[in-house]
Amino acid sequence: MMLADYHTHNYLCKHADGTLEEYVQHAVNIGLNEIGLSDHTPMPDNWDSEVRMTEQQFRSEYVPMVKELQEKYRGAISIKFGLEGDFMPGTEAWVKAFNAASDFDYVIGSVHYLDDWGFDNPLFVAKYDEKDVNDIYGLYYQRIAQSAACGLFDIIGHCDLVKKFGHRPTKEMVDVLHETFKIVKQYDIAVEINTSGLRKPVKEMYPSEKILSILSEYNIPLTLGSDAHTPADVGRDFDIAKGFIQKYGRGKISVFNKRQRSEVNV
Ligand SMILES: [Zn+2]
Ligand SMILES: [Zn+2]
Repeated sequence: MMLADYHTHNYLCKHADGTLEEYVQHAVNIGLNEIGLSDHTPMPDNWDSEVRMTEQQFRSEYVPMVKELQEKYRGAISIKFGLEGDFMPGTEAWVKAFNAASDFDYVIGSVHYLDDWGFDNPLFVAKYDEKDVNDIYGLYYQRIAQSAACGLFDIIGHCDLVKKFGHRPTKEMVDVLHETFKIVKQYDIAVEINTSGLRKPVKEMYPSEKILSILSEYNIPLTLGSDAHTPADVGRDFDIAKGFIQKYGRGKISVFNKRQRSEVNV
């Protein structure tokens, strides 16, 4: 039996609290077997660095701190060197080179932007009302499929994040979802169960049970993450997530070592 939180942030992204060690310490305190440190990636030319670390901070702070903690906590908890990447069309070559230059255990691929709209940012939520919600969902799942097919990521992050503020499509999405997750399966990527949706206006985990049943149908591997932006949220609501893993994932989650995936029982 093993519980791992593969989605955590820290102060370096400037919209989370706490040092990396405080996240690790909380994971130890609640008895997790493994924690993945997966802060938001830098982007080309330090784009959007007000909500993410710069390349300089990645090299001088993030990497050395992860390595130091791995040594310090050896025997107490397994610490994985991860990253939450961003999928944005046009940045693939940069991301490929950036990711290849470090010995990550895993890289999450997340869609946080539709063109230049940071649709999950509360500051820009009004834009949902300026567009057709079905078009927003259509474009979002197109980006999810592209993020799987680009070959840069090991895990699809919060794969229905577009629902964060409670906006729902008015059309049936089932065909789009099947098309999308067939591609995810084809490229052999894992999908995370991310409990942070429970703490957001939508009040529902990412992904929904409807999507989890599709993932189960295609036998897509699952990972588990809290998306903690404060140390106390590490492992948050994992009891609920474990129920979903039993129901839709044969009781197994995936863990990674140097970007090699294996399955363990939760
Ligand atoms: Zn964040
Ligand atoms: Zn994210």
